[in-house]
Amino acid sequence: MNTFYDNLKKKLKDTPRPRVIASEQGPYFVVDGKKKLNFCSSHYLGLAIDQRLKKAAKDAIDTYGLGTGYRTLAGTNVLNVALEDALAKFKRAEGAIVLPSGYLANMCAIQTILGKEDVIISDELNHASIIDAVRLSGVQNKLIYKHVDMKDLEVKLQEAQKIAGEPKSNGEPRLILIVTDGVFSMDGDLAPLTDIVNLAKQYEALTMVDDAHGEGLLGNGGRGIVDQFNVHGEVDIEVGTLSKAFSVIGGFITGKKELIDFYKQNARQFMFTSAMTAPDTAALLEAVTILQESDKLIKKLWTNTRYLKEELAKLGFDIGQSMTPITPIMLKDEELARKFAAELYERDVFASAIVFPMVAKGSARIRFIPSASHSKEDIDFALKEIESVGKKLQVIK
Ligand SMILES: *Cc1c(COP(=O)(O)O)cnc(C)c1O
Repeated sequence: MNTFYDNLKKKLKDTPRPRVIASEQGPYFVVDGKKKLNFCSSHYLGLAIDQRLKKAAKDAIDTYGLGTGYRTLAGTNVLNVALEDALAKFKRAEGAIVLPSGYLANMCAIQTILGKEDVIISDELNHASIIDAVRLSGVQNKLIYKHVDMKDLEVKLQEAQKIAGEPKSNGEPRLILIVTDGVFSMDGDLAPLTDIVNLAKQYEALTMVDDAHGEGLLGNGGRGIVDQFNVHGEVDIEVGTLSKAFSVIGGFITGKKELIDFYKQNARQFMFTSAMTAPDTAALLEAVTILQESDKLIKKLWTNTRYLKEELAKLGFDIGQSMTPITPIMLKDEELARKFAAELYERDVFASAIVFPMVAKGSARIRFIPSASHSKEDIDFALKEIESVGKKLQVIK
């Protein structure tokens, strides 16, 4: 056994330990004892520190305690049912299923319906949890199309149609499932959903979108990318996370009633793990209520986003092709990206360097995520430091 641990030791990389945050995740947080501007968490709407969410969580603890246990064996807590109903209504879908994380929601969405004889068609830049879900499903026909390239998607659909010409060994037709991220989290670009839906119809494929970074900020009142492209009812499987704009924890799937019921009866990620806690669920219910009451937070987020992007562009930075609050400064060089982030951190601005393998080699960047909780002064402070570091490292003149 010693060789096993020796081997692990050899393989361990010399990466710095994650920074330790000892405060709430607001516009600032306290990292290793020092106050830093938070430009790296994906709590887009500032709900992680919202008084109403906090109160809902505290009240739920008083009424229901903490854990809610297995849903299928021991009965489902009323809050879990209420959250699913609220999310279905919010998304204007027939049904919703909530799981303990977005990662698990992707596992559930794909593994439960796809078998090894079916066909999956996936954007090459899809999130790791989609890649893992595809592996878990055991599907053997995997077709990867070039990032948001609709010509290539059509080529892959033609290939899929040939494979699907033969029924499965049990006589059922083979499914073709197109899966894409809604917002691509490193670049902030969007999947061309209308085109995907049209191609899917033409080739009789199912569609799935993982809207982790669109939920709560895209579309009318934060209803997500399907609402933004106005393709309600035309995307078969919508996956969302409750840990980004919703700022708590959990994942969910919305779709037609039969699909959601099928998941609830068959998904291993639903049957063999426990439900979210009472305070989490209650806080999320409050978050959905807040979004339904007003789009004030969403407007603030987009105002901050526009301001940050305009000012960075004016300073002469290359900010890529983002159509969302995700704001990269493209630096290409890995070392430069690391240095830029380190320099900013010294000046109390905390943003993440994004390097290989998160993005391709030669496309390293630093990524800023503004939120509705930042004030204009917060962003001005960041801009001043970003300008100064940019000049020091000769990224801008
Ligand atoms: C963050 C993210 C997930 C995972 O969501 P969790 O709720 O954190 O597990 C899944 N897909 C995409 C595209 C994401 O960005």
